[in-house]
Amino acid sequence: MTFRLRFTALSDVGRVRRDNQDSGYAGPHLLLIADGVGGAARGDIASSAAVEAIRKLDVPPGNDPLSELAATIHLAHDRLAEIVEGHPDLDGTSTTVSAAVFDGTQLAIGHVGDSRGYLLRDGVLRQLTDDHTLVQSLVDEGRITEDEARVHPHRNLILRAVDGVHEPEPDLFTTEVNAGDRLLFCSDGCSGVLTNHALAALLAIDPLETATSRLVSAALDAGSSDNVTVVVAEVLEDDDEASPPAFVVGAAASAPHLRISDESTGNLSDTEFAALSEEGLPLDPEDLRYAPQPPRRGSALRILAVVAVVVALLGGAGWGAYAYSQTRYYVSDNSGKVAIFKGVDLDIWGAPPLHHLVKSTDIPLSAIEPYFATEVRNGKAVESLAKAEKYVAGLPLKCADTSTIPVPSTPVPTPTPLKAPTRTATPTRTPTPTPTPTPITLPSPSTTPGTGTSGCTGAK
Ligand code: MN
Repeated sequence: MTFRLRFTALSDVGRVRRDNQDSGYAGPHLLLIADGVGGAARGDIASSAAVEAIRKLDVPPGNDPLSELAATIHLAHDRLAEIVEGHPDLDGTSTTVSAAVFDGTQLAIGHVGDSRGYLLRDGVLRQLTDDHTLVQSLVDEGRITEDEARVHPHRNLILRAVDGVHEPEPDLFTTEVNAGDRLLFCSDGCSGVLTNHALAALLAIDPLETATSRLVSAALDAGSSDNVTVVVAEVLEDDDEASPPAFVVGAAASAPHLRISDESTGNLSDTEFAALSEEGLPLDPEDLRYAPQPPRRGSALRILAVVAVVVALLGGAGWGAYAYSQTRYYVSDNSGKVAIFKGVDLDIWGAPPLHHLVKSTDIPLSAIEPYFATEVRNGKAVESLAKAEKYVAGLPLKCADTSTIPVPSTPVPTPTPLKAPTRTATPTRTPTPTPTPTPITLPSPSTTPGTGTSGCTGAK
């Protein structure tokens, strides 16, 4: 037996953010959610470009929909690389992608990031996708519980995205569907604030359009400070009825990636924009939302810098190599504390020192989330001192009572409250008596980045 999809989609900028960086797509053969990441680097462009690349799959699929999905996700990656090459100010733009191709009997799913796919069957909600987030990796390692993950200060941090830099590594799998199943693909603005119980109840509402609008309004009412996008479908027995046109919602509806030449830097001249970027704009948590997983032995950037220096030295261009090395910075370990170095993390016998300490901090590596501690130990290469400082300011502590990612100790004026405190009003936040987790001792507040580093009991 074959089926068809009844589908709809809805996206809302939310009550806090000024722009919608989510994009959604729903068509007879494709359901897709893309949550743009990057804050000032324009996540809307990334999500919208991803939808444009992947929507090609909204046709009756061929024999191997998973390969087609992998290929179009790669296409989105290539497109982003191209965009950033032409607009360096967009460096850092990236997007989650969760896409499902429907062939009449099953869904082929491709997934990167923390947007989610769910299937509701006979009142039971099943999450189809696994989040590529720091907190999910901590849950998988058994270090925190699902409940702790929901309120973890760094729950928004994603480790994989389509960014035009790192090879996209989507999870690829298929799942069968039955008549009557309901499907939900949504951004974290929805799944981050609603419990599975709430999602299941809302998704079951008839008709589908009402379920869709209720999901969005419930997420907003639950205190989502983010863009909220839902792509919803129902599996019906195929009755040869013609499908309505596809829905394109959120950023993709206005295709900002096709207009970036005029607007990527707003009204600022290139010089003004560069100056602002160097000094650092007010820190938007969205800027720090994406932390790509470092390759095992140092980042690509670091390897590139090291290779460039070695090649130049071998070629006899000693001075050139030294000069080049002195345009680089990296963040690394200095006697157990985080420090910023100028140069490249390399010692060559007979060559002048290729690096020196420019800034030490009192942040012990032991206080940082192990994932980032490893990254720092490996030497995190960055292009400028400003970027190094921003990276250090954003280093997540093992445990902090801030409700957001740590911000620099100098308070910066924030035009809009980027994190609405209302999220604490969600039912999931209600403290329940649980066995007291082992408290993690933090170094004294003056030695840690961020603002709120007072006592950390680990229990939230
Ligand atoms: Mn989001």
